[in-house]
Amino acid sequence: MTHNGILFVISGPSGVGKGTLREALLKSTPNLIDSISVTTRPARIGERDGREYFFMDRDKFENLIKQEEFLEWAQVYSNLYGTPKQFVQENLDKGLDVLLEIDIQGAMQVKAKKPDGVFIFIAPPNVEELANRLINRGKDSQDSIVERLKACYDEMEFMREYDYLVINDNISEAIKNLEAIIIAERCKINKDKE
Ligand code: 5GP
Repeated sequence: MTHNGILFVISGPSGVGKGTLREALLKSTPNLIDSISVTTRPARIGERDGREYFFMDRDKFENLIKQEEFLEWAQVYSNLYGTPKQFVQENLDKGLDVLLEIDIQGAMQVKAKKPDGVFIFIAPPNVEELANRLINRGKDSQDSIVERLKACYDEMEFMREYDYLVINDNISEAIKNLEAIIIAERCKINKDKE
């Protein structure tokens, strides 16, 4: 019996550790395809075009929006981010599972288009912990940290729209939970149920 691949979507507030969990999950999970997003944000040191993201300017990004090339796209703080539609669909059609690590606005767009996806909300153990992580990772200005913490309260409201909740208190526990979700979803009998 053949079936379409499963679309796994992980999202949650900024600074919750989604990126780290995604990397660990891709290493530990066979046959899980990483979707590389497009962004208008400049590459950070050590990032390579086509590996972490496809980096492009706003004009090119807006052209892709017009051409309906995105499964979803959103403005996250001051930059645009989008998921290339064709890449995701081709892999799902081949029966391969695809992982998206995107923000909540994007996840809600994907849910509207692909309700049979598996939506996993990553939450911080508490807001103080999230504040500490944003401060310690040293990527964000004080204003941006305040903005992200404010957004976190609104974003937590979306938790109920998701299928699973993983609290990222301890990284290895969180990864184990994500792996368990993937295994359980792959073992489901009625995957292609309409
Ligand atoms: P960063 O710039 O730190 O890599 O990512 C910032 C935020 O953008 C993170 O919350 C990340 O999940 C989100 N993000 C990354 N790629 C996409 C995407 O394709 N679509 C959406 N909606 N959000 C994304």
